[in-house]
Amino acid sequence: MVNSPESRELVVVGAGIVGASVAYHAARAGADVTLVDVGRPGAGVTAQSFAWIGTAGVRTGPSARLRMAAPQEYRLLEAELPGLPVTWSGSLSWGVADTVPEVGPGEEVVDAATVARLEPGLRQPPEWAVWAPGDGAADPLGVTERLVEGARAYGARVHADTPVVAVRRDATGRVAGVETGAGPLTAATVVLAAGVATAALAAPLGVQVPVDPSPATLFRLRAPAGLVRTVVHNRDFDLRQVAPDRLHAAADSAEHTLTAVRSTFRGAADVELLGSGIGVRPMPADGEPIIGPVAAVPGLYLAVMHAAVTLAPIGRLVAQELVDGVAEPALADCRLDRF
Ligand SMILES: Cc1cc2nc3c(=O)[nH]c(=O)nc-3n(C[C@H](O)[C@H](O)[C@H](O)COP(=O)(O)OP(=O)(O)OC[C@H]3O[C@@H](n4cnc5c(N)ncnc54)[C@H](O)[C@@H]3O)c2cc1C
Repeated sequence: MVNSPESRELVVVGAGIVGASVAYHAARAGADVTLVDVGRPGAGVTAQSFAWIGTAGVRTGPSARLRMAAPQEYRLLEAELPGLPVTWSGSLSWGVADTVPEVGPGEEVVDAATVARLEPGLRQPPEWAVWAPGDGAADPLGVTERLVEGARAYGARVHADTPVVAVRRDATGRVAGVETGAGPLTAATVVLAAGVATAALAAPLGVQVPVDPSPATLFRLRAPAGLVRTVVHNRDFDLRQVAPDRLHAAADSAEHTLTAVRSTFRGAADVELLGSGIGVRPMPADGEPIIGPVAAVPGLYLAVMHAAVTLAPIGRLVAQELVDGVAEPALADCRLDRF
């Protein structure tokens, strides 16, 4: 048992893509859910995400298994939430490793001719690339908003622009809800899905959550229609077309990204930078998700992870644990007590 039945009354702190998914799935499973965010849903790091849905070469550890299951979990969500803004273009990775890597399930190594067929705009297709046809990408803000809307449709209450200042406990030390800038909210279970702020919210309870802030930059580019067909991952950038005249790139510098895009694709001479944003990713110390109840504080549950756009739909498993009170085997290696 991870939780008792009264824990069906939940406050989820943080309406990024993780908290929105947990709130949606828990409300759908019959929990009494209140979702609280200091700002607007999705406006944290989620809004700055490149939002590739895939394993990104991660082969081992609990996150690898969960990432592999993610496309299937997204398909379930798409069936439940028609119009969920997710696209399935596949991904092509090359030049990241010096030698041909061992590919994972659902991936294959393809030759230059196949790469050229998949990305006809390339000036010089690499000799080989890893093709993951099942990969996709999300409009991360759009998915988050749709999950919040879905949670509301199942009865969840959503408080935006409401900071949670503390987790409340009763005389026995059990979680009793949260204190917010607008007053207290009562609940038997509090899910901390507050991204980089999770550690600061847990610390006053004597709970150390080893999550580091990890900044990364998203570049928004104007580009001709159809320049990039798949999610492209190489040493210079992660790159994808998000609209007929727009590309998004996750990369280190604007100048290098522009030079690399122009030299990698034909017809890219006029690609220009429209803007950029820095997102601060919550990065667990060992890179693996931190998901589950905290034994020392009954009623406290953590949901913080990296590559959380990919992992977000596993909010379904989190909700199952929270609502049914039965530990989910797929999350067994994600617990805080491994540290
Ligand atoms: C450039 C870049 C590229 C990326 N590329 C990918 C990728 O390709 N694929 C992938 O899967 N992931 C990618 N990521 C990572 C991904 O974006 C994050 O893992 C994910 O968005 C984290 O979601 P979250 O819900 O945990 O955090 P957040 O979106 O930050 O949500 C946390 C929420 O908690 C709220 N909050 C904080 N404190 C409080 C408080 N005290 N009270 C109330 N609310 C509070 C915040 O306002 C925020 O809305 C990328 C990130 C960046 C920056």
